[in-house]
Amino acid sequence: MAQLYFYYSAMNAGKSTSLLQSSYNYNERGMNTLIFTAEIDTRFVQGKVTSRIGLVADAILFSQQTDMGRLIKEKNSSQKIHCVLVDECQFLTKEQVTQLCEIVDYTNIPVLCYGLRTDFCGELFIGTHYLLAWADKLIELKTICYCVRKASRVLRLDDNGLAVYQGEQIEIGGNEKYISVCRRHYMDAIKHTKSIEAGEKPFSVVPFK
Ligand SMILES: [Zn+2]
Repeated sequence: MAQLYFYYSAMNAGKSTSLLQSSYNYNERGMNTLIFTAEIDTRFVQGKVTSRIGLVADAILFSQQTDMGRLIKEKNSSQKIHCVLVDECQFLTKEQVTQLCEIVDYTNIPVLCYGLRTDFCGELFIGTHYLLAWADKLIELKTICYCVRKASRVLRLDDNGLAVYQGEQIEIGGNEKYISVCRRHYMDAIKHTKSIEAGEKPFSVVPFK
């Protein structure tokens, strides 16, 4: 039976690379894949999944209004789809995660979702919330903090290299705006920002400029 997989991590853990590798493995065996990515992500060329090590593949853009279930069924009726891969799946809505569950259960196509665990405030994204709740398999893709501990948090940095701890959840940027750190260094960075804002002695020397 097909399953719903959720590959989650902080930023820059190689999610897109892993997705493209999985798609390649299917294609190599003569099987067709369908790749989705979020319309909201403007870091790279629209309609493509691009990995930092240079792999690239065409992708269908999804917005919050996209009926993923209907789209996948349409594509599957014209050409058999063997696997669906969704990049930036943290941006899925509850309804879209439900649609993906139904694709797995009623059409028996495996669905592989790749996305962030939490936002820069340490809160779950909506898509992540429901994937953690409903996916058959949860797989953590690991990356490391500058201190070599596992990075589980994402810091948003302002133009001065200070950690931001409030604001809109979605503000897409490249590597210059977000970095992955461990929980301890996430807290240190926020405390550092607050000490600067309060005009106090800086909490620490920020090492990730
Ligand atoms: Zn650390």
